[in-house]
Amino acid sequence: MANFLLDNKDLQYYLDHELLKKIVTLKENNFKDAENDESAPVNYDDALEGYNKVMEIIGEICANTLAPNAEGVDAEGPQVVDDHVVYASGTQENHDMMKQAGLYGLSLPREYGGMNMPLAHFSMASELIGRADAGFSNIYGLQDCAETINEFASEEQKQEYLPRVSKGETCAMDLTEPDAGSDLQAVQLKAHYDEEKGTWILNGVKRFITNGDADISLVLARSEEGTHDGRGLSLFVYDRKHMAVKVRRIEHKFGIIGSPTCELVFTDAPAELVGSRKLGLIRYVMGLMNAARLGIGAQSVGIAEVSYREGLQYAKERKQFGKAIIEFPAVYELLSNMKARICASRAMLYETANNVDMYKTYFHVSKKRKLTPEERAEMKYHTKIADAYTPLLKMMSSEYANSVAYDSLQIHGGSGFMMDYPIQRHVRDARITNIYEGTTQLQVVAAIKGIAAGTYEEKMKEYEGIKCLAMNKPLLERLTNMRKQYEEMVSYVTELDNANEFLDFHARRLAEMAGHIIFAHLMLRRSNTSKVEGDSEEYHTLTNIYLNDGEAKNNGYASYIKSVNVADLDMFRDIKLDK
Ligand SMILES: Cc1cc2nc3c(=O)[nH]c(=O)nc-3n(C[C@H](O)[C@H](O)[C@H](O)COP(=O)(O)OP(=O)(O)OC[C@H]3O[C@@H](n4cnc5c(N)ncnc54)[C@H](O)[C@@H]3O)c2cc1C
Repeated sequence: MANFLLDNKDLQYYLDHELLKKIVTLKENNFKDAENDESAPVNYDDALEGYNKVMEIIGEICANTLAPNAEGVDAEGPQVVDDHVVYASGTQENHDMMKQAGLYGLSLPREYGGMNMPLAHFSMASELIGRADAGFSNIYGLQDCAETINEFASEEQKQEYLPRVSKGETCAMDLTEPDAGSDLQAVQLKAHYDEEKGTWILNGVKRFITNGDADISLVLARSEEGTHDGRGLSLFVYDRKHMAVKVRRIEHKFGIIGSPTCELVFTDAPAELVGSRKLGLIRYVMGLMNAARLGIGAQSVGIAEVSYREGLQYAKERKQFGKAIIEFPAVYELLSNMKARICASRAMLYETANNVDMYKTYFHVSKKRKLTPEERAEMKYHTKIADAYTPLLKMMSSEYANSVAYDSLQIHGGSGFMMDYPIQRHVRDARITNIYEGTTQLQVVAAIKGIAAGTYEEKMKEYEGIKCLAMNKPLLERLTNMRKQYEEMVSYVTELDNANEFLDFHARRLAEMAGHIIFAHLMLRRSNTSKVEGDSEEYHTLTNIYLNDGEAKNNGYASYIKSVNVADLDMFRDIKLDK
């Protein structure tokens, strides 16, 4: 039987390695939980065996239900009926099947009905689902709202909402409004506390809300009257049972059509405050969006994977000039670069997931016992890396999903432009990945911190210290030179007086330069350390292919940075098309 996990040997490595072992041991309380709970694993191997079974079931459902349903979902789409969302029939079938198979609540603690699995596994589920049906991966992936509830809500709220998520109730994240997109500080939806009713009440409009009619919604609202910035915003949980939110419309979209994007009207909607007032945007939504960005990273890898597979199959079958088109250098070059980018994004996806998991797990452990000074330092370190890696992952993997889908359509020639082939759907689905959950430009804004603080350089140097196989030494040398070039460019851009605008101008180039180096290091590390058969050689080659492209791009960026100086910014600022 077809299976999206088992047909992809690239995934194996991420299901078992050193950092994961540490995460699982921490999550499982050194496997002491098994003494009182027979569903808890007795050791690391037992845990992995259990996780792998779950992943195999997801891989099977993806290949045999979700993927075959995707075309019908794309054609049918969801509808608004009596102010509420009705999913496309295929989406409903997908959701029911995942629910019946008990596949919600993967990473939630067992005490709330979850499976206590690592974030890497939840991310892999999102990747597999993204490959099968990108629209559905939003509906499934939004359960990461429950992670925010688990982190910041009261015990009473956790008892109420988390078991429901584990049973398959759906979630939504209601942040965006017509005048508050990238700039969430401008959110206006009003929250006031009604003394008589003893509850918070929400009034206003939200727009572009994925799965807006979900059972459980996290809503960002202005709780502090007279405020105008992020410090006046709080986070609320709204329960659909109140029936006080109407879906005014579902957007007519270019892609991810199965995922309902809703305009919502809140009318005296009762809601509960999550955590403390005024920390809604500053603390909780930042955490929520970071989790969602990891999810879009996974979705992007999934879309890139399916696009690559479509392109590969077509290139093997299509014959021109008497041979399969895959024989032409112009085609196999495209395909090999597509594959290298996917493997690079995947390496970054699971590295980021593990860093996020490390600090989150320590955060939860710290609620139960005092952390040792070493553990506290480790938590701080992984928080820093997760914050630096998340925007880099989101930016690069979503741009790669677009480029891989685009190139795959190109390989299909004229057929790719026809609705008969699925690649047009993947191109459409990919297009949103670098827009929502913060556009690529906003990921760059987030990455500037990692650039200016030297976090990326620190990691590059750390990776340079990993024991290197003889065949990989020339690649490591190139990466070391690329790091030196990156350092030189960062200094050049940041060491000027009034450098802020100059840094913003070149930030995307610097972020991509860092991305090429870090992604390549992760691939090289896999080549150097993997115990999976054949990985060392394959990843040596993939790193080489990825590096050729990344090195050329970095050289181009370095040349551009040197050629556009501060005085030139006037030229860019002043040029107007209507002049
Ligand atoms: C299909 C879909 C699903 C969505 N789902 C959700 C959801 O579930 N929940 C939710 O809350 N929101 C959701 N959104 C909203 C989404 O997150 C926003 O659309 C996105 O953050 C961009 O905001 P905007 O559309 O208002 O664009 P704008 O913020 O107006 O941006 C327009 C352009 O300006 C650029 N720009 C803006 N500010 C800066 C800056 N400081 N520096 C550089 N460039 C900048 C942007 O990069 C972009 O190119 C969804 C959107 C879509 C299309």
